[in-house]
Amino acid sequence: MSVQEPIIVHGHVEPVDILAFGPHPDDIEIGAAGSLLKWIGQGKKVGLVDLNRGELGTKGTAEERLEESKEAAIRLGATFRVNLGLPDGSVVDDAPSREQVVKVIRESRPKFVLSNLEEAHHPDHKAGAQLVKSSYFLSRLPKYLVEVPAHSPIGLFYYLIHSLVTPTFLVDVTETFERKFEVMGAYHTQFVEPKTPDGYQYTGIQDYLRNVRSLGEAWGVQAGCPAAEAFRADKPPIVESLEDLIAKPD
Ligand SMILES: [Zn+2]
Repeated sequence: MSVQEPIIVHGHVEPVDILAFGPHPDDIEIGAAGSLLKWIGQGKKVGLVDLNRGELGTKGTAEERLEESKEAAIRLGATFRVNLGLPDGSVVDDAPSREQVVKVIRESRPKFVLSNLEEAHHPDHKAGAQLVKSSYFLSRLPKYLVEVPAHSPIGLFYYLIHSLVTPTFLVDVTETFERKFEVMGAYHTQFVEPKTPDGYQYTGIQDYLRNVRSLGEAWGVQAGCPAAEAFRADKPPIVESLEDLIAKPD
């Protein structure tokens, strides 16, 4: 398998507070755009990394999707967006792919790394999450890939896309929820005017925007607010004070 050079979609790789990975262009936005908009509004810098260009996608071409992901990054206010150009449908947690992911983690030196959860039936979502998890670990080892200095982020969290598994924490995105759909609207071929070949049989969700809205509102019911996004962690979060936990009354 030949590994492509990363494609700089927007800005350039530089230090950020949060680095978010997604298997395909649009996955980060589906799962976490509301939270990222909120944190960017608080002054945090966010970098985005898509593992591949979605060239096997039934709707839109790889070129169209790259353009759309650039527009989405601008609407989000992200510092940069990179596409690693791994093969769509064949993402694997192997040595060459890990080097690419470790490089971007080390060059952007984030405090926090976000990934999709190993969920859904698309094989890239499972392998992609595993690849980010392996690379997150390797990024702190000084003797691995010695040409780029090691970096130890504080935490790795997984945003939920479609799954109803119990989250580790929820983020109230009431204030940014409508802007999330403006960001998602940049993906014209995927959400606004999706075109599929005659007779194409969907196996999953057809109306993403409706489903993302329903799920966000459902997490909001759990959080005690109009809309929320859900995240998982491998370890429980540590708090210094109970006030760090914003418990909403039932
Ligand atoms: Zn995807």
